[in-house]
Amino acid sequence: MGSLALRVGAAYLGEDYVFSRDVVILVENGIITDIVEANRWSGRYLDKKGLVAAPALYNAHTHMFDAAFQEAGIGLSLREAVAPPSGLKHRLLRSTPPSALAEAFKDALLRIASWGVAGVADFREGGLEGCRLGLDAAEGLPVAYVPLCRPSPGLGDLDEVAASGRGFGIPSPLAYSEEELARIREAARRVGKPIHVHVSEDRDEWLQRDYIKAVNVLGADVLVHATLLTEEQVEEVASRIKGVVVCPRSNQWWGAGLPPLSALLDSGVAVALGTDNVAWVKPDLWREMEAAFNVLRLQKPGYADPARVLRMATLDAARLVGLERRGLLKPGYAADIILLDPARLGLRWSKNPLASLVKRGGPEAVAETYIGGKLVYPRLGP
Ligand SMILES: [Zn+2]
Repeated sequence: MGSLALRVGAAYLGEDYVFSRDVVILVENGIITDIVEANRWSGRYLDKKGLVAAPALYNAHTHMFDAAFQEAGIGLSLREAVAPPSGLKHRLLRSTPPSALAEAFKDALLRIASWGVAGVADFREGGLEGCRLGLDAAEGLPVAYVPLCRPSPGLGDLDEVAASGRGFGIPSPLAYSEEELARIREAARRVGKPIHVHVSEDRDEWLQRDYIKAVNVLGADVLVHATLLTEEQVEEVASRIKGVVVCPRSNQWWGAGLPPLSALLDSGVAVALGTDNVAWVKPDLWREMEAAFNVLRLQKPGYADPARVLRMATLDAARLVGLERRGLLKPGYAADIILLDPARLGLRWSKNPLASLVKRGGPEAVAETYIGGKLVYPRLGP
């Protein structure tokens, strides 16, 4: 893979994303090896002085194959649209040819790479077959793809699903019997892979029951949504699980409410952002960050920690989906780097470049995306 030296006008560096001017980012074999002030670097470099470097983003929860039917059934409720087995989404997944699903998926994956996304966790429906469809479709594409697969009803394919995916993505703890949940837990432990599960997304669910089953019976590692967790549940969550993925734009679209984001952060549990169903929510983490920042300020007036918001779409998102040493511009981390056009961010007029990145960043500001040190957008050659 070779080496790369990127000289940039500025970069958001380290855990605190400190805005640092005129630096050279050194990369060897896909890993950042050093970041030095440009006046202390005498070697060759790629001149990107007109651009600003930031860590690439990671999407901790999506349903990528929904890309094949964007805005279908626009007025439907959450249950009518996505509840298995007869919600519109599941009927469309069954009736759309797999080749068309795969094509829409690839198209969406390349599109999000051009928006600065280096990795994505995908809840894959359809048992073992669905899991393999995702893996095959992602083959050769530059984005780190994390399929979280679900066993078919009856668990006939449980061990194969455990072996094939990067973990389990369970639609609801109420979708299986307690005995089945325990078998899924054991299968995940045997292969050392995590369990992600939708929990307390909507008023429709029997809330106490789905959280308690997710934590006590299924042994979930990561809860997705947690929109309607009680105060007591939020308080204990940090000691019970590894993390929570919140999807505030999806929750708003479905009328489910807002996730208790401020309380979750206060609890100390790791929190990441996801954009959920591609069919109804644009998988745009820039919008998700702005939405999360706004939710935090609704819940805690005066909240002003853009680094914390950015971490939910970079470092913590990568960690929660099992992508280690990604999400920071720091030696030892993967060279997943985006270069932004400062004019499109209006940075010249910013009094707080980090807050501007979180509040005003967007696909239109992404000039280049590098994943593992390799330029993936714009793509070189034909
Ligand atoms: Zn979901």
